[in-house]
Amino acid sequence: MKLHMQILIALGLGLKRNWHILVGLFLGVIAGIWLHNAPNPIVMNALHFIGQLFIRLIQMVVIPLVISAIVIGITSIGDSKQIGKLGTKLIVYYGIISIVAVAIGCSLALLIKPGLGAAAFINSDVATGIQAQVATTIESQKGNLLNILLGFVPKNPLASATTGDMVPIIVFTVLFSVALAKVGEINRPFVSFFESIFAATMKITDWIMCFAAPGVFALTAVAVSAFGCDIFMSISKYLGVLVIGFAIQLLIVYPLFLKIFSKVSIWMLYAAIAEAMMVAFGTASSSATLPLTIACCEKRGISHKITSFVIPLGATLNMDGTALLQCVAVIFLAQAYGVVLTPFLVVQIAILAIVASCTCAGIPGAGLITIALVLNGMGLSPEQLVAGFAFLFTIERITDMMRTLVNVTSDAVVAAAIADNENEINYDLLNNPENYNDVIE
Ligand code: ASP
Repeated sequence: MKLHMQILIALGLGLKRNWHILVGLFLGVIAGIWLHNAPNPIVMNALHFIGQLFIRLIQMVVIPLVISAIVIGITSIGDSKQIGKLGTKLIVYYGIISIVAVAIGCSLALLIKPGLGAAAFINSDVATGIQAQVATTIESQKGNLLNILLGFVPKNPLASATTGDMVPIIVFTVLFSVALAKVGEINRPFVSFFESIFAATMKITDWIMCFAAPGVFALTAVAVSAFGCDIFMSISKYLGVLVIGFAIQLLIVYPLFLKIFSKVSIWMLYAAIAEAMMVAFGTASSSATLPLTIACCEKRGISHKITSFVIPLGATLNMDGTALLQCVAVIFLAQAYGVVLTPFLVVQIAILAIVASCTCAGIPGAGLITIALVLNGMGLSPEQLVAGFAFLFTIERITDMMRTLVNVTSDAVVAAAIADNENEINYDLLNNPENYNDVIE
């Protein structure tokens, strides 16, 4: 089939199935602009309640889902050589995607120079309201890299599970699952227990997704009402660079990646995960979208064995959209404040952005906190750091929605590539969206 026909069919079917979420997004933008111009506390409170209710409902199932998915995924691979092979492939694929993302972010920011002349705007009143909060955030991240890495290993896995600290939970669960796989048949009762948990949490996800359209509507309206349209005018160059960067990832890098490493059609994959992409945009949370990403991939042909192993790890560790944004944001501030960007400094930004994005949780706003890791080494004065950081805060939500969409999409792209390599895709299903099972049953 010709490429443009594939794209049209994929988009058409994606939209047909998900028109309600798309309408929620669209109406949310309109309601947000209206509320920005005519603030109404009662409506705002109601929308805030609906949005938070939706996010909390999904977050409720994330921990049991991630733990059970990883246990099932790794034990179903079984043989430890095979686990090692898949694990290495996963790290290499996620690594390639992240390196390309930071290369794109740095190149675009250096080429378009969005920060030139921006210092006046950064220092304006917009930033002053939240400077105290910002100063604390920067302080909390200072010189903290080794501590952050140390924190990946949980002292007490149960404590991490109760506080929702995803990276330590994953480290423990992966180790534990590899050990379970090694002990053989005796693991059966334990694995069956997790299979039941996984099935039940997916069922709850089905129910919660009936609430996706109003949830996405409310979240979008609240987010847009905070900044309205005027802000776009003043920072159009910065936002423009980000939009171009994200578009390159979605429309060039992922298609090329799948072409090189698999025979999956990106357009069919996008049709398969359209719901997850929209919910990622609406919630700005990879973790909250995780159950849906898994459901979309599994119900449209990618095997359970691969999705349950690759996607939870990706939703926590692979944040290429966040890494891209962090490069653009830091270079933007460096340009605004006249820091000379030597090649060494740019490479340092790129490497730190990859580390900072891996350490960031899949929740709204997390990427902006870990960006302090990258910013701290830039030689900006404390005042510049605070003002620059506060500026990034003011336009945080919209950039978060975009980068989360990219983060979630790349998890599915890597899962599809690995599934193809391992013969774990049902192509008859993936390539025939007419036959897709609904995520909501
Ligand atoms: N919100 C992003 C995510 O959940 C993380 C970030 O803040 O960049 O993927």
